[in-house]
Amino acid sequence: MRLIWILGDQLIPDHPLLKSADRHTAVGMIESAPRGSHLRYHQQKLTLLYAAMRHHAASLKQAGHRVLYRRLTDGPRQDGYPEVLKRWIQEHKITEIHLLDPNEYDTAQSLLALSKKLNVPIRTHRSPQFLVPRDDFAAWGKGKKHLLMEAHYRRLRTEKNILMTRKGQPEGGDWNLDDQNRRTFREFAKEKPKIPPLPPLEKDPVVKEAAADVSKLFPDHPGKAADLWVPATREGALEWLKHFVRARLGQFGPWEDTMVEGEAVLFHSVLSPFLNLGLLTPQECIQAAEKAYREGKAPLNSVEGFIRQILGWREFIHGLYWLKMPEYKKVNFLGAERPLPRWAYDGKTDMRCVSQAITGAVDRAYNHHIQRLMVLGNYFLLGGYEPSAVLRWYTEMYLDAYDWVMVPNVLGMILFADGGWFATKPYAAGAAYQEKMGNHCASCRFDPKKKEGLDACPFHSLYWNFYGQHATKFRSNPRIGMMVAMWEKKSAADKTRIRAEAERFLKAQA
Ligand code: FAD
Repeated sequence: MRLIWILGDQLIPDHPLLKSADRHTAVGMIESAPRGSHLRYHQQKLTLLYAAMRHHAASLKQAGHRVLYRRLTDGPRQDGYPEVLKRWIQEHKITEIHLLDPNEYDTAQSLLALSKKLNVPIRTHRSPQFLVPRDDFAAWGKGKKHLLMEAHYRRLRTEKNILMTRKGQPEGGDWNLDDQNRRTFREFAKEKPKIPPLPPLEKDPVVKEAAADVSKLFPDHPGKAADLWVPATREGALEWLKHFVRARLGQFGPWEDTMVEGEAVLFHSVLSPFLNLGLLTPQECIQAAEKAYREGKAPLNSVEGFIRQILGWREFIHGLYWLKMPEYKKVNFLGAERPLPRWAYDGKTDMRCVSQAITGAVDRAYNHHIQRLMVLGNYFLLGGYEPSAVLRWYTEMYLDAYDWVMVPNVLGMILFADGGWFATKPYAAGAAYQEKMGNHCASCRFDPKKKEGLDACPFHSLYWNFYGQHATKFRSNPRIGMMVAMWEKKSAADKTRIRAEAERFLKAQA
């Protein structure tokens, strides 16, 4: 018997290995409690994962496949992949195991040892889950000192003929329409764009059961399993894609960077949880957005902005992960070593923007990009928090968190721990950015306008202290050398005061 092993984040439609399945083939799926407790993953993330796997297995059975399925609650809790596979090999006389290339480096690395342990060959096959195969990205990146997302994005737009004119030019004449996007909170308050509600969630007994298993088996993990707020089926994911394109895509671009208290999603798509499990393909998300543009149902700035996220950023991050692992996980360019603040898992800090982002992550296992990058990411960067601790926090807290996407986003994009493999400068921002892009400051106990004293927004001193600390590393960076020069022009007394304020604040968070 041949076993096709489907990993939990490979629930793709049209799985290529299933095409050759015959009566000597079984399909195997394993819920592994040891894997689920590797980190304290958010309960809603685990619920979504197991419910989606259970649904997927049911649809494979319905399609006539012979499915072997191991639930969390079947057999001893400590049984993981090796123990379950060993049992199946004996019970079903399995002689070979096939699977698609795992998305995570450690899983891929473990297969050789697993094969030896089981004494059965394990063969991996190229996965169609991403648009750009790993070797293609590596060939493109070879010899480049800095990998620029923009260059990768333009290459793909051209090669794949996405949002291009018949003459091979970018639709609308420009590759990038950011000048029409990135609008501020003040503009949002003035225009009051209507935010459509998310599609209603149908009652799903599979999700209910998975949530009960998760809350029983992982009681000390953050969040509440029963509060999962996204569907766990391919049909549900397709419905969310359709709804996004119809109701929110049109406004996606302009308000992409805006933060509004009480609005967790705004005009974002919430498609990453589905994409990362394989319930949606990147092709279908891109095609749906492009179609809306061609039919005049969504403006180019929004459609280009959205396609840039998936074709550009998502594929780039994935390629980069595979290019730079395992080296990536060891980087710490800025020598950051502060342990996480005491409120990292409950959001009990007086900084309103930070507290809102953390409670959002605890309640929903979701923050939109700007909260991840410019609020939390900015705080962890400026505060000098230790990269592996920050990586762990992000990997635990989000519905869509998987190693391949977290490692470059956390270590590269927010912490600049790779020294700039792809970011040309750290995404550091002071209080003015928070005030401009969101409305948290209005109800915060700190004042973004005050530059010093106990009521001053801590982002002021943290921001300047950051440039002071890393002046040597950033002095010659053409994009931020100016900030270093501004720091250096400050008087000795000012520098001492800023350093002391930043240190006092950070100590109080420990
Ligand atoms: P939208 O704003 O609607 O964007 C559309 C899609 O673009 C997303 O669904 C996602 O698939 C893709 N995308 C956009 N930016 C990125 C990016 N930088 N990397 C990869 N894909 C991107 N994304 C994850 O899928 N999983 C993560 O664990 C994750 N962690 C992140 C951690 C940090 C520190 C940062 C800065 C970003 C992270 N992202 C992650 C990227 C991005 O923030 C999320 O994909 C996005 O917020 C998900 O919400 P959405 O589907 O509503 O996104």
